Amino acid sequence: MPKPNNTMHDTKYVFVTGGVTSSLGKGIIGASLAKLLQERGYSVTIQKLDPYINIDPGTLNPYEHGECYVTDDGAETDLDLGHYERFLNIPTSQANNVTTGRIYQSVIHKERRGEFLGKTVQVIPHITDEIKHRIQLLGKTGDYDIVITEIGGTVGDIESLPYVEAVRQLRWDLGEENTIIIHLTLVPYLAAAGELKTKPTQHSVKMLMQSGVNPDILVCRTEHHLTESIKRKLALFCNVKQESIIESIDAETIYDVPNLMFDEKLDVVVLNKLNLSSDKKPGLKKWNEFLTKHKNPKSTVEIALIGKYVELHDSYKSITEAFIHAGATNETKVKVRWIHSEELTTKNVVKKLQGVNGILVAPGFGDRGIEGKIKAVQYARENNIPYFGICLGMQMAVIEYARNVLGLANANSTEMKIDTEYPVIDLMEEQKTITNKGGTMRLGAWDCKLDEKSKVFEAYKNDLISERHRHRYEFNNNYLEQITNAGMKTTGVNPKTGLVEIIELPKHPWFVGVQYHPEYKSTVLNPHPLFISFVKAALKQSKS
Ligand code: GLN
Repeated sequence: MPKPNNTMHDTKYVFVTGGVTSSLGKGIIGASLAKLLQERGYSVTIQKLDPYINIDPGTLNPYEHGECYVTDDGAETDLDLGHYERFLNIPTSQANNVTTGRIYQSVIHKERRGEFLGKTVQVIPHITDEIKHRIQLLGKTGDYDIVITEIGGTVGDIESLPYVEAVRQLRWDLGEENTIIIHLTLVPYLAAAGELKTKPTQHSVKMLMQSGVNPDILVCRTEHHLTESIKRKLALFCNVKQESIIESIDAETIYDVPNLMFDEKLDVVVLNKLNLSSDKKPGLKKWNEFLTKHKNPKSTVEIALIGKYVELHDSYKSITEAFIHAGATNETKVKVRWIHSEELTTKNVVKKLQGVNGILVAPGFGDRGIEGKIKAVQYARENNIPYFGICLGMQMAVIEYARNVLGLANANSTEMKIDTEYPVIDLMEEQKTITNKGGTMRLGAWDCKLDEKSKVFEAYKNDLISERHRHRYEFNNNYLEQITNAGMKTTGVNPKTGLVEIIELPKHPWFVGVQYHPEYKSTVLNPHPLFISFVKAALKQSKS
C-alpha cells in the first residue's frame, strides 16, 4: 500500500505510559490508535513492555494476570497482545512482549559470556541499553512505519523507572519528530463536589517530568465529558497543548474506542507531531459493519463457559472476544453463563446447565475441577447440546467418552492421575524428560490436516490449517482404534507427527474438541470459523 506522502524511511516511535491508576486500558488506547493509523495507510505494530521479573506470563496463575496469550512463534505473552491482533488483524510475535525478567536475563547472559568484560554491569547503561535495543527491534526490521510501545505499570512505580529512562534517552537519540509520548491518565469525577478533578493528572505528569520526560499528548479517561475549561487547566498545568488533551470517555464496548479516538482526532495529533501526513481518512468500513451487527443482534443464545478461573473473566479473554466476533457474524448476542467447574456435580448438573444452547469447556491445567468438566461434557453429549472443547476441554471429552461409552471406568489423563489404568490422555514422549516449567510446552503454530467429511472441514473450508498450541498432554494413540470404533472420530491430525488435533461425534448435532486454541486467532475482521460454526449450532439449538 503506498504510504501517504511518507518521505521518511525511519520508523517512528510512539510510547504509551500510564498514570494515576492501573487498568485504564493502555492496551485498548494503543490498539485503537494503531487501528486508525493503519487505516490511514501506515504499517503499524504494537509492543508491550512489562515491568515484572517473570521471563514471561506463561508461569503466572490466570488469577494474577488474566489469560496468557500465545503467538504463532510460540511466545507466551500478555493478554494485551490479543487486543493488538484482534484490532489490527496482523500477527504479533515474541518481539512484541518483553518483561523485565527477559531484559535482565539477556544482560546477565551477556555478562557471563564476557561481553562487558572489565565493566561494572549497572541498571544505567546496561539495562536501559537492553530496553532500548528491544524497543527498536521491530522498527529495525523495516516492516513498520510506526511502532507503538506500551509501558506496563504506572508512572512512579519503582520497577517502571528504567523504562521511563530508556524512553527519555531514545527521545534524545532519535529526535522529537521521531518519538512521542502519550500519557494515559484518569480524570476522576467527585460526585459530592459535582466536579471533574485534574489534580491526580497534574501529579502524575510532574512525576514523569521529574524523570526528564514531557508527555506530548494526554489521553484522559473519564466518566463525564471534559469541558473546555478542564482541558485548558490540564494544558496549562501539564505543559501540553490544548489540542493534545484527548478525552477518552467510558465506552459501551472496547470496539467503540477507535471511533471515539477518531472523533477526538488522536490520530491527527499523533501524525502532526511525528511530521507525517494525515491526508487519507480512516474509513473503518468493515470495522463499523461489525459494530453495527454486534450492537443490533436479531437473536440471543446462551452458552455455558465451564472453567476454574471464572471469577476473573479476563482469564478467558480471547474466548469471550471470539464469541463477540462470531456472534456479530451470526447477528446474535452470545450471552455467557459462567460456571465454576468445581461447583458442578452429578446432583446439580441439570439445574446448572438447563436451558443453555451450547457448552464450552475451557482450557486449564491440573486436576482441580476436572470432574465437573467431565459432567458438563456428558450432559452436552447425552442431551445433544452443541459442545466445544478447547485444549483441556477436548481432553475431557475424550476421557468422558472412554469412561461412559467405552466403559473404561476411571479413564483419565496422566496429568490428573499419574498411574491411571486407562491413560487416554498422556504425556508426549519428548515431554517426559523436561523438568523446567517455563516455555517448555508444545507452543505456537502447528499444522493440522482435516478429514473432508467433518464439521471442522465444513467450517474452515480448507483441509490444511495451522493453529496455536499450549499444552503438554495429548490424545494417546494407543487408544485410537478403540475410541474411533466406538464412534468418536478424529477429524484433524498433525500431518507430520500423527498427533490427534480434533475429535468429533458425527452423530451429535455439533460436538467438537480441539487440542489447540482457536480463540487466539479470532479477530474483528476475521472471526474464527469454528466459533462462527459453534454459535450457529447454538442458534439452531435455541430454535429447536
Ligand atoms: N493441561 C492440559 C495439557 O497440558 C491442557 C492445557 C490447556 O488447556 N491449555 O495438556
